[in-house]
Amino acid sequence: MFKKILIANRGEIALRIIQACRELGVETVAVHSTADQDSLHVTYAHEDVCIGPPPSTDSYLAIQQLIAAAEITGAEAIHPGYGFLSENAHFAEVVEECKLGWIGPRPSTIRQMGDKANARRVAIGANVPVLPGSTEPIATALHAQRLAEEVGYPVILKASAGGGGRGMRVVYEPADLAGQFSTASDEAEKAFGDGSMYLEKYLEAPRHVEFQIFGDSQGRKIHLGERDCSVQRRHQKLIEESPSPVMDPDLRARMGDAAVRLAEAVDYENAGTVEFLLDTDGSFYFMEMNTRIQVEHPVTEMVMGVDLVKEQIRVAAGEPLSFRDGMAPRGHAIECRINAEDPVKFMPSPGRMTVLHLPGGPGIRVDTHAYQEYFIPPYYDSMVAKLIAHGRDREEALARMSRALDFFIVEGVKTTIPLHQQIIADPHFRKGDVSTRFMEGFRERQEAAGDADTR
Ligand code: ADP
Repeated sequence: MFKKILIANRGEIALRIIQACRELGVETVAVHSTADQDSLHVTYAHEDVCIGPPPSTDSYLAIQQLIAAAEITGAEAIHPGYGFLSENAHFAEVVEECKLGWIGPRPSTIRQMGDKANARRVAIGANVPVLPGSTEPIATALHAQRLAEEVGYPVILKASAGGGGRGMRVVYEPADLAGQFSTASDEAEKAFGDGSMYLEKYLEAPRHVEFQIFGDSQGRKIHLGERDCSVQRRHQKLIEESPSPVMDPDLRARMGDAAVRLAEAVDYENAGTVEFLLDTDGSFYFMEMNTRIQVEHPVTEMVMGVDLVKEQIRVAAGEPLSFRDGMAPRGHAIECRINAEDPVKFMPSPGRMTVLHLPGGPGIRVDTHAYQEYFIPPYYDSMVAKLIAHGRDREEALARMSRALDFFIVEGVKTTIPLHQQIIADPHFRKGDVSTRFMEGFRERQEAAGDADTR
């Protein structure tokens, strides 16, 4: 086992990794920008190193500073968390070249799956269903038009290097394709430094259902069931739950097998997620693979009774997977992402949390780096906490989530708590009747109710 680990991240995930290290008896090194010196991950780590000024390009994304921090402190391995450099194959390679342990999949796997068009080809090779679409990068708008005719409208254009819901365009009409292709490709070039695009059939109202997978260096690959992340805003997840309200053992076995086949095809090591779209008729299609720990990993931990982050560390240290295969979920877990933002305008709301009271009680878990008087810096992601409720069934998990949201008190900044309260109370959500388009219908219902209130 490693003696000391450096955490190349900030916020709640840095803290989550520190918790895992503490339980394993591993020492921790926190890195931080000058904007994060009062952050809890700095307080709780054994050692800390300031790696630069607030902009992430000069700190959390600065490879040289991170490696120097590891060398100065004598850390033996690096955990990248999610976001920042977690899916950067070059960083993973540098870490390994510097004879440090990398807590994640092999760099070659990150590269292979990071190109989404390539990941699609790997999936096809592993006999994992994909949506009809392109198998090679699309060179020109004309090429895109020809493919779209073949596949049938609507289609979705995606950046091969895309992520975080960016670089995607849905096209309903042939007349819009050429224009959308060039805007999307330009946008991808600017955002990811790579304008290459691919195209697939657009499903009108699918669910986003992803499988947690895990592999070790002894060749064992397993899955730990699914998470339903259909409640999204601008293709970004807001609420996640496990199990999916529409899952049954047969579908879980078929989707889980497909996820494991993909993991085996690339000899996947460590934690990963295989994302699928599940259509209304029960067909499912591979969408992409995330080669890191996910934000929403706690819902899997709650229903499976496992610690995914500790397992990541053990497996990276060469230990065999300790999880059993084919575990069934116990009860139901739901996670709400609490962002510091104006839920009406969707604008970040940084600043000081003058009052913070976190809920607790049976079945409640809060993963956060925030504390009373914490100043939320404006430079990073607006997520300040993850509220997770676990119950013996979905109904109990919902009841717990609802009361925990009521008892979650924040003053000084605006948060998405009121939005979550409304979603949890929404009759469609309560029935589990959701798709990735859920928020559109939800907004309409809210507006109709608002109109009725003011009448
Ligand atoms: P990112 O990597 O940017 O998160 P994904 O490929 O994972 O992008 O897609 C994010 C979301 O976009 C999905 O959860 C889904 O809501 C929507 N989406 C992606 N592809 C399709 C598709 N072919 N049909 C319908 N919705 C899609």
